[in-house]
Amino acid sequence: MIDFYSDTTTRPGRAMREAVLTAEVGDEQRGLDPSTNALQARVAELLGHEAALFLPSGTMCNEIALRVHCTPGDEVICEQTSHIVNFESGGPAALSGVMIRTVEGDRGRFDAAAVAAAIRPPSRYFPASRLLCLEQTANLGGGAVWPLEQMQAVVAAARNAGLAAHMDGARLLNACAATGIAAATYGGLFDSCWIDFSKGLGAPVGAVLAGPATFIEAAWRFKQQWGGALRQSGVLAAMCLYALDHNVDRLAEDNALAAHIGQGIGELPLVAGVLPVDSNIVIFDIAPEGPTAAALAEALAAEGILICEFGERRVRVVTHLDVDGADGDRLVDALSAHLGTPWP
Ligand SMILES: *Cc1c(COP(=O)(O)O)cnc(C)c1O
Repeated sequence: MIDFYSDTTTRPGRAMREAVLTAEVGDEQRGLDPSTNALQARVAELLGHEAALFLPSGTMCNEIALRVHCTPGDEVICEQTSHIVNFESGGPAALSGVMIRTVEGDRGRFDAAAVAAAIRPPSRYFPASRLLCLEQTANLGGGAVWPLEQMQAVVAAARNAGLAAHMDGARLLNACAATGIAAATYGGLFDSCWIDFSKGLGAPVGAVLAGPATFIEAAWRFKQQWGGALRQSGVLAAMCLYALDHNVDRLAEDNALAAHIGQGIGELPLVAGVLPVDSNIVIFDIAPEGPTAAALAEALAAEGILICEFGERRVRVVTHLDVDGADGDRLVDALSAHLGTPWP
């Protein structure tokens, strides 16, 4: 199978698995796993923060951050298409007792005026605006990359009103590959941020949340309480360390392949539009005369190519280290067979 479904489908290769054989391990809950400690130190530095915490998933990074920054009854400002709003099973309500106030952005990005409009004045009648969250890159925005100045402006708008700011950096390093801006330059703007290792970095499990030492100390408490504390997690951290050493620079190839695929798809007659391709995600819409996204995904799967149905006529394609240029050409060829002429 050629898998463009998601960059989460990457499988650890032989060299990454071999890195586990020599990894030093210990009891992570007691801070005694050397590989996990090394990973946390590297990510803290990478993201421009004092400390970091290894967690099983990016979702847990977001949910723990919300819990640390907020108290029940607080309000969190998120873009309406964000992962926190759509794919975390109502975690903010269930785990932190917070309200979410959504703003409508452009491909997941919004401006300082939208933040200012969403912040409530202090009042005992209102939920207390406490936290601003944003995604770099914005997944449902088609991997949209926030320009640095726009990010600085929205964080400043939040800070001026006394809010904290959190960045969901699941694919932050794809943004860095696209812009050439250091991860710490983005990450250092925020009170907390994280990167995922199980997406484009190609590790099987893991995400690392970074922030000030006091924030990470508080995050540890919820990691323990919610059952996320681990034991010999060095077997996982070793693969994440391998990913930092070998799979970061190559993210530029994923971005370039996505741009190439997006261009090819944009030329197909039955494609109504392709979102601008900023990083490693291509989102396109099928014209009304064409097949539904479900029918298209089924037809391609029968030909050995996986894509993601993202709506009635919306499709997402994601590039990653397990697909190459030849796979990209096969994808566009296969799509052109189905989107080249009106669906019968
Ligand atoms: C994948 C993703 C997450 C969640 O990460 P997991 O490691 O799958 O839990 C959060 N935010 C964004 C933007 C994502 O793409």
